[in-house]
Amino acid sequence: MNKIRICLDAGHVGSRYNQSPVVKTYYESAAMWSLHLKLKTALEALGFEVVTTRASIDTKMDVYDRGAASKGCDVFLSLHSNACGTESVDYPVVYRAYDGLNGSDVLAGKLAARIGAEMGTAQAGRTAIRKNSAGNEYYGVLRGARAVGTPQYLLVEHSFHTNARAAQWLLSDIHLAGLALAEAEVLAEHYGLSAVPEGKTAILGTVQATAQQMALFCRSRNAAPRLPACSVEELAQMFLEEGAAEGVRGDVAWAQSLKETGFFRYGGIVLPEQNNYAGIGALNGNAQGQAASFPDPRTGARAQIQHLKAYACTERLANACVDPRFPLVTRGCAPYVEWLGAADNPQGKGWAFPGQGYGESIVKLLEQILAQETPQSPAPSLEPEALAGFPAWQRDGLAALQAAGVIDSPDYWAAKFSEGVTVGELFGILGKMAGRA
Ligand SMILES: [Zn+2]
Repeated sequence: MNKIRICLDAGHVGSRYNQSPVVKTYYESAAMWSLHLKLKTALEALGFEVVTTRASIDTKMDVYDRGAASKGCDVFLSLHSNACGTESVDYPVVYRAYDGLNGSDVLAGKLAARIGAEMGTAQAGRTAIRKNSAGNEYYGVLRGARAVGTPQYLLVEHSFHTNARAAQWLLSDIHLAGLALAEAEVLAEHYGLSAVPEGKTAILGTVQATAQQMALFCRSRNAAPRLPACSVEELAQMFLEEGAAEGVRGDVAWAQSLKETGFFRYGGIVLPEQNNYAGIGALNGNAQGQAASFPDPRTGARAQIQHLKAYACTERLANACVDPRFPLVTRGCAPYVEWLGAADNPQGKGWAFPGQGYGESIVKLLEQILAQETPQSPAPSLEPEALAGFPAWQRDGLAALQAAGVIDSPDYWAAKFSEGVTVGELFGILGKMAGRA
């Protein structure tokens, strides 16, 4: 299949064209030059072919010719920020074909909405048309693109640099990088391509592992996880629930926890009773216990999920924030697991510092979790009625111990579910687990 070709045009020539009257360090030409390069990188990572109109920020080129340079491309995008006399005006507007050629309003509308959400503009994004007196496109770039038959041509105004908030926002290189990823995602979705680059694992999205796989894989590496307030099975379930609440992959977070806690062996700065499963606030050089503590396992899982969401996107939290370090994160700087280590992140930001290979090692654990085989039924050899009255976490516990080879006679133990256990029996089980640890 031929690649979708996109032509990108950075709005104006030079590094100091169209200064913001309210944020004096902002120049439209410089910001849009930077944005179009980032967008090129993001689009190419998703499998698009990208050409740009001008070779350097100072290269002069007539606007009509820039549009015409998109000949043979599927899409032409000219990138701008807008200006007007009213400071409070703050919304993105995407100019599209005046006659709705090739359904141009659809892509334009998606881009406008997404840019508005990404930039957090005061008013919602919208599309617009503008004709000249001859009834053709008003903007020369769009006239040129139309003349050479480019099916989709859009002029994208990234809100108004006459608005202080918007201009300030656009001054941040990290914001522009996030904006580029968001726009690339919209285009990928529109053209039916995957919105995640090849070789990258999105932090947001639908889980692929089950709680059982997550727990069993953990127990296969450490038969006695040091979780003072819940079972490993319960905690795995909490990760899935908390992840679903925020749109974060709970299985990704779990893989991160296994790495951070050494399969819940601990032994570093964080203590097991802190319910802190990913070293939140445990900075290099801290003494033991000098890290965030959470009142219970669910809050600990929630904080980690929220912290991941802070890195993965700019969307607001669904639940009240329990992550003490949430405000310190540069929102959206690491949408992929592979970018969680600062050394591996194009923005140089990340959960782990320097963190080279940090994300990669989490992905490896995730793959092993997904490869974890689970018994067809949690406890195939048990009498169902013997256990029917007992909570799932107890029954799952027996199944997990059986699967881990700690318990050899599940029927015997199933019949004793409501009974006390002797010291001898307890030591027998613990001794087996210690032998495997
Ligand atoms: Zn402009």
